[in-house]
Amino acid sequence: KQTSPAQSEFYQAVEDVLESIEPLLEERPKYREQAIIERLVEPERQVMFRVPWVDDSGQIQVNKGYRIEFNSALGPYKGGLRFHPSVNAGIIKFLGFEQIFKNALTGLPIGGGKGGSNFDPKGKSDAEIMRFCQSFMSELYRHIGPNTDVPAGDIGVGTREIGYLFGQYKRLANRFDGVLTGKSTLWGGSFVRKEATGYGAVYFAECMLDDKDDSLEGKRCLVSGSGNVAIYAMEKLYELGATPVTCSDSSGTIYHEKGIDLDLVKRIKEEQNGRLEDYLETHSNAEYTPRDEYPEDGHTVWRYKADIAFPCATQNELTEKDAQSLLENGCKYVVEGANMPSTQAAVDLFIESNTAYGPGKAANAGGVATSQLEMMQNASMLRWSFEEVDEKLKGIMRNIFKDAKRTAEEFGHPSNLVLGANVAGFRKVADAMIEQGVV
Ligand code: NDP
Repeated sequence: KQTSPAQSEFYQAVEDVLESIEPLLEERPKYREQAIIERLVEPERQVMFRVPWVDDSGQIQVNKGYRIEFNSALGPYKGGLRFHPSVNAGIIKFLGFEQIFKNALTGLPIGGGKGGSNFDPKGKSDAEIMRFCQSFMSELYRHIGPNTDVPAGDIGVGTREIGYLFGQYKRLANRFDGVLTGKSTLWGGSFVRKEATGYGAVYFAECMLDDKDDSLEGKRCLVSGSGNVAIYAMEKLYELGATPVTCSDSSGTIYHEKGIDLDLVKRIKEEQNGRLEDYLETHSNAEYTPRDEYPEDGHTVWRYKADIAFPCATQNELTEKDAQSLLENGCKYVVEGANMPSTQAAVDLFIESNTAYGPGKAANAGGVATSQLEMMQNASMLRWSFEEVDEKLKGIMRNIFKDAKRTAEEFGHPSNLVLGANVAGFRKVADAMIEQGVV
C-alpha cells in the first residue's frame, strides 16, 4: 500500500519487483508465511543528517545527507552515493531497494544500500566540493566500515569526490581500509572500476544479441547521458564495432550522424566540467537540441533511428512515447545503463512487443560487481591487472545474463529478462533471510 506520495520512485521500483515475482510466490508459499515481502520493503536502517559547509564567499550552506542500509542478508551493505539537487528520501530508497536485487544477481556476497545528498556539485569550486565531502563524511564515517557498509560513487560522485571522502574517513577513523570503492588506482582503487558500469552494460548487450545470433558489429546506438556510465558504454561500443550516434546531458542532446566524437566528449565532461553544447564548436555539422525543445511527452534522444538504445543518464528518462518512437524506428534492443531509466509504461510496451529489453538491475550490475572486486583486492592487499579485472567483469556479466535468462525460461517467459532478473535476485535474498531467522 502506498502511504507517502513523496516516495513515488520507490513505489514504482517495488511494484516492478512484486509484479514479476508473483509466479514465484505461488510456487513457494514459505515466502509469504515468512513475511519476506513485508520485511524486504522495510530498510534495516536509515540515517538522515545535516551537512553544513562553508562556501567560497564565507557563507554557511546546509544540505541533507542520507544513507540507507536496506538489506544485509547476503553481505555488507553496498551501493553508491548520489550528489544531485533532485535527491530526496524517496529517490535514495528506490535506489537502495533496486540495489538489493542487483547485488544478489552478481552472485557476489554483498547486501544492498544507497546514500547521497541534495548537494549540487555544478558550478562549485574544487575547494567547495572538498569541504562538502569532508562535512558529509564527518557524520557518515560512524555508520560505515569495510565489513558493514561500503559506499561507492553514483551521479555527481566520481574519483575526485571519493578521494575527499576517503581522506576525511581516514583522518577520523585512523584506518586505511576498503571502506569506499571507486578509489583512485594510485591508492587502493581497482583497475576497470571507472569503466565497469558502461563496459558491463555493453557486455550484457553482447549476450542479448548473441542470444539472437546477432552481433554489435555495424550497429547504430542511441546513448543518453555523458557521464561515467555513458562515456564508457560508448568507448566499449566503438571497440566492438558499433557506432553511438547520440549522447546528452541535463541541458540538451547531441546527434552526430557519423558517430559521437568520444575524445571530445571526454574532454568537455571529464576535464572541463563543461556543457555538451560546446561539442558544436568542433563539429558544426552535428545536431544539438536544447532541453526546452524536447517533445512534451519525452526526450529527443530516443527519437532517432537506431538498432539499440542505451539509457545511461537517470530514472524515468524514457517514456512510453519514447518507447513507441524507438519501436517505430526499428530499434530492436534496449539495454539500461542507468537505474530505472524507463517508465513503467515504457517497460510494459517493450515486454508486450517482445523487444529484447535488458533491465538496469541486470545490465548495469557491472559497476557494483567491480566494486566488490575492489573490496577483494583491498582485503587481500593484492592488485590485479586491467586485463584480469576486465575478464572477471565479462564473466560476471555473462553469468548475470544466463541466470536471468534461465530463470525467465523456468517460469515460461523466456524473453522476459525483467521477470528473470527480479526472480533470480529475489530468490537468493529471500532464502538467505529465511536461513538467518526473523531479524
Ligand atoms: P554521472 O554523474 O557521471 O553522469 C550522469 C549523466 O546523466 C550526466 O550526463 C548528467 O548530465 C545526466 N543527468 C543526470 N541527471 C539528469 C537529469 N535529471 N536529467 C537529465 N540528465 C541528467 O553519473 P553516472 O554516469 O555514474 O550515472 C548515470 C546512471 O547510471 C544513474 O542512473 C546511476 O544511478 C546509474 N549507475 C551508475 C553506476 C556507476 O558505477 N557510476 C552503477 C550503476 C548504475 P549533467 O552533466 O548535465 O549533470
